[in-house]
Amino acid sequence: MKFISTRGGECVSGAQAIVQGIAKDGGLFVPEQFPQVTREELESMLPMSYAERAAFVLAKYLDEYDAAELTRACEEAYARFEGDDPAPLVKIDAGLYMLELFHGPTCAFKDMALTVLPYLLRKGCDLCGIKETVLILVATSGDTGKAALEGFKDAKGIKIMVFYPNDGVSKMQKLQMATQEGNNVRVVAVRGNFDECQTAVKKIFTGDAYKEELLKNGVILSSANSINFGRLAPQIAYYFSAYLDLVSSRQVDMGAEVNFAVPTGNFGNILAAYYAKRMGLPVGKLVCASNKNNVLTDFIRTGVYDKRREFYKTMSPSMDILISSNLERLLFELSGRNPVRVKMRMDKLAAEGVYELYDEEKEQVQQLLWADFCGEDETVETIYEFFEEYQYPMDTHTACAMYAAGNYIAQHEKDAAPMVVVSTASPYKFPQDVMYAITGNDIKDSFKAIKHLNIATAMKVPASLSKLRDKPVRFTEVADGDKLYPVALAFAKQK
Ligand SMILES: *Cc1c(COP(=O)(O)O)cnc(C)c1O
Repeated sequence: MKFISTRGGECVSGAQAIVQGIAKDGGLFVPEQFPQVTREELESMLPMSYAERAAFVLAKYLDEYDAAELTRACEEAYARFEGDDPAPLVKIDAGLYMLELFHGPTCAFKDMALTVLPYLLRKGCDLCGIKETVLILVATSGDTGKAALEGFKDAKGIKIMVFYPNDGVSKMQKLQMATQEGNNVRVVAVRGNFDECQTAVKKIFTGDAYKEELLKNGVILSSANSINFGRLAPQIAYYFSAYLDLVSSRQVDMGAEVNFAVPTGNFGNILAAYYAKRMGLPVGKLVCASNKNNVLTDFIRTGVYDKRREFYKTMSPSMDILISSNLERLLFELSGRNPVRVKMRMDKLAAEGVYELYDEEKEQVQQLLWADFCGEDETVETIYEFFEEYQYPMDTHTACAMYAAGNYIAQHEKDAAPMVVVSTASPYKFPQDVMYAITGNDIKDSFKAIKHLNIATAMKVPASLSKLRDKPVRFTEVADGDKLYPVALAFAKQK
């Protein structure tokens, strides 16, 4: 299978698409066509383990990768999750389910892809004949950095360096990264905020002289951000797996539609659900949930994408986003795969901060998606009410999706399809906010909040978080934004 750029300029193999990350014309790589999963194949996936299902879906896109090796890689990746099932489906009520994607090493759904990406990337390099060491550079506002570090730690032929804004991440997030284990990792705090940190890292990626010098030292650069197809592909699998779990537990008949509600930021997670649908999975409505940063809600309701608005910091920080970069892949499909139109809109977004869909595209979007957003007060209320009713604690991101799902169900009585709410983080990842929502207690210290939340909910504390307190801090380096390249070069040269 070949991959093409949403902006028209390139056609490459899957391995190349993953190694490169982004197309040379600035577009995103998409499959030349959607591979299909037939009814017989769906049936054949019923008895499979999660890892086997994931490998089956990946093999549909990455046909130059060895299938048995893909399966082994998925098995290894998902063996690192807590519990038997890396993506359990929990029944909450009649027709209402929670798909828990937070049992990975960092307790957020990004682990679903970032534990598999190192294999896809290293193997991709081998398939493309690249012999150099790959240096992954990540600028993070919190969650992605830790998930990437865990995913790539001790991966062969790869080094990873994470930069985070010194005054822009939570204490817990800082501690998670500063205590990171692994022989190929490095974490550096950058003076300034996230934007400054990201800009500084981008300068390394776009500096030709830098890249030349690194290459002389046997190192090439790559990224692990969510526009990489290698991040998207493993996410498609859990929609299949959730559906198959519903069928095998006889809660849904094979072929009947299921709706999904997804807490959305960069549009990567929900886009994977759309890809699953295009592959033939019986997916009904996709509920796109935003927080107070509701640019996507407005877009889906009106067809106008307008980022010219205030940016809010919320208690669901991984959804605090004004430009959802993966939306470009949906735009490509909506336009009838018209790269000229995609490029025009992306240029317009960059220059003016706004673009608008044509009427027939607007109709398509609303056929596919339903959107809502959840404010800060509603987030707290949803966590509280849901815990009161079901004794099920939710994190702040998941609460946004539950809120939107509730509104969708209330307003669409005729839609009898079951609703699966995608849960993207453990409540223990945001213990103070969840504790406050459930009990009204405002606890300043994260570890104390974890302890009290455990007493209040009886939910098991993930081992990776409870162990954190006693782990030695390995990284304390703080750098100026304009001095990141020497830091990266020194790390690249290390043994
Ligand atoms: C990244 C993240 C999201 C948003 O996912 P996108 O793929 O960017 O839409 C939602 N919740 C949590 C906990 C996340 O870490």
